[in-house]
Amino acid sequence: MEDSAGRLAEVIRRIARASQEAGRDPEGVTLVAVSKMFDVESIVPVIEAGQRAFGENRVQEATQKYPGLRERWPDLEVHLIGPLQTNKVRDAVRLFDVIHTVDRDRVAAALGAEIRAQGRNPGLMVQVNTGEEPQKAGIMPVEVDDFVKRCHGEYGLAISGLMCIPPAEEPPSPHFGLLRKMGDRLGLPLLSMGMSGDFEEAIALGATHVRVGSAIFGERVR
Ligand SMILES: *Cc1c(COP(=O)(O)O)cnc(C)c1O
Repeated sequence: MEDSAGRLAEVIRRIARASQEAGRDPEGVTLVAVSKMFDVESIVPVIEAGQRAFGENRVQEATQKYPGLRERWPDLEVHLIGPLQTNKVRDAVRLFDVIHTVDRDRVAAALGAEIRAQGRNPGLMVQVNTGEEPQKAGIMPVEVDDFVKRCHGEYGLAISGLMCIPPAEEPPSPHFGLLRKMGDRLGLPLLSMGMSGDFEEAIALGATHVRVGSAIFGERVR
């Protein structure tokens, strides 16, 4: 049985190999280790193995875990990869270095106001619902150009990338390719796409951020 540090090393090897096969510099791919539902004791060995970027999908859970860890490791980078509600925007701006999930005008407006109030400068990406699934978060593909424009112009947000979660039952590559096309069209350099089951395909299609949970931490138990 391998431990999380061993699994992390294997994921890093696979990222390097996938990057090389795509003719890309592995430095251009940020591994975001998704620690949701794992406690601080499970996260520490992964930090000690050298990992610095971590992803959480709930503001409250991240707020309980990461301020303490940051006191010990000030260079940790914490990413929000789950839905953001307006009533959590203040806490989110306080904690996160990168927010991958900007997807609504109300949230974008609140983020702009809060970022100015706190004088923080988090990285920001827009989540796109590439599969157009009614239950899923993210802006619809036909609305993404106008939304990004409003984020820049009306809300003063420096959006630098796009993020997607392909439908579970479909091959992911067409969704990664679509996100890449939208990013190119909008001049947004960052692409957050690819999880434990498909991060190599995402790297082949241009991912700059892969969000990998279970391949590092093991299966999540509810
Ligand atoms: C949980 C989660 C991940 C990681 O999923 P794994 O399959 O465990 O790698 C990636 N992205 C988002 C948005 C998630 O919620």
